[in-house]
Amino acid sequence: AVEIEFSGSTRVVTVSNQKGGVGKTTTTVNLASALASVGARVLVIDLDPQGNASTALGVPHTADIPSIYDVLIDEFPLADIVQVSPESPRLLCAPSTIHLAGAEIELVSQVAREHRLRTALDDYIGGLEERLDFVLIDCPPSLGLLTINAFTAAQELLIPIQCEYYALEGLSQLLGSVRMIQKHLNPNLHLSTILLTMYDGRTRLAQQVADEVRTHFPQEVLSTVIPRSVRVSEAPSFGQTVIAYDGQSAGAVAYREAAVEIARRGLKNTDNEGAH
Ligand code: ADP
Ligand code: MG
Repeated sequence: AVEIEFSGSTRVVTVSNQKGGVGKTTTTVNLASALASVGARVLVIDLDPQGNASTALGVPHTADIPSIYDVLIDEFPLADIVQVSPESPRLLCAPSTIHLAGAEIELVSQVAREHRLRTALDDYIGGLEERLDFVLIDCPPSLGLLTINAFTAAQELLIPIQCEYYALEGLSQLLGSVRMIQKHLNPNLHLSTILLTMYDGRTRLAQQVADEVRTHFPQEVLSTVIPRSVRVSEAPSFGQTVIAYDGQSAGAVAYREAAVEIARRGLKNTDNEGAH
């Protein structure tokens, strides 16, 4: 099995795309579990009121459970709400509950409304005894204040793209928002990774979309693509990622390869920065 030696600082990655159903949540939880399986300590922050990432990680998130809502709105310390996924002691989750559905509106009148997640995360990371290697943030399908909080807290943006006809539509809007964030809130945010998801290699359309995305973003697109696979879509109903549910399936293998690529790229990028 692959074991990667992680070192350096915590990489905070927001998984975003304002389109729904492109594989944000699936990518967040499976990459997180795959990274944990190769030795990383990973925190998933569930920023979607639907709470699908919490479900897939096997973490309770009923309305009575302290959640990311309490962190954003009532300034609970993140340490008070983080749970350990039954999948691995290295896999942590800040769950979302249904209360988060109101947060988008409640945040509007709050002080430092765009920075609340970042402040909470900085406090949490600063107080940890064991370093986190990755924080992955699962965003809701919109460009509202929850997503802005994720953009403000992260250094890296990972965009999952579903290989279908409208794949690139909306991407310029997303990248426009990123430029606004870079200018006004977080100059460190950059598009580091694009992952092609739900790929069906039998269709010409999927190949064409993949080629088009690679032409536009040659540096960012991972060589690994995630195939469409029933096992991937079944896993959440067992409160598991596909890594735990069926580790030999094509989807699990692909997510592990993507995780290794991301981990190695990070090391390479750090080297490049050191050379400047
Ligand atoms: P988003 O978070 O962007 O809304 P999801 O991750 O929830 O998207 O995925 C949307 C739907 O597609 C879910 O039902 C999920 O199980 C399914 N899905 C995602 N990736 C795959 C895949 N590689 N193969 C099959 N189904 C997938
Ligand atoms: Mg989702």
